[in-house]
Amino acid sequence: MKIPPICPRCGGWIPNNATPGAYPGAVSRTDNQTEVCSECGQKEAMEDFFDSEGCLSQQEWKAHG
Ligand SMILES: [Zn+2]
Repeated sequence: MKIPPICPRCGGWIPNNATPGAYPGAVSRTDNQTEVCSECGQKEAMEDFFDSEGCLSQQEWKAHG
């Protein structure tokens, strides 16, 4: 059995905890290649839009836990 991918931003399943591995998650805006879960993809889009500094960097992902 294939292990579903885990979101490196929040540590949850991709695309979400209800249906792990059901379909691809979102591509992170930090580097346009790291796959994150659907929720984090939406959060990044919001941060990018509302926060002048843009979305959280990958260093900050770990700091926030
Ligand atoms: Zn996530």
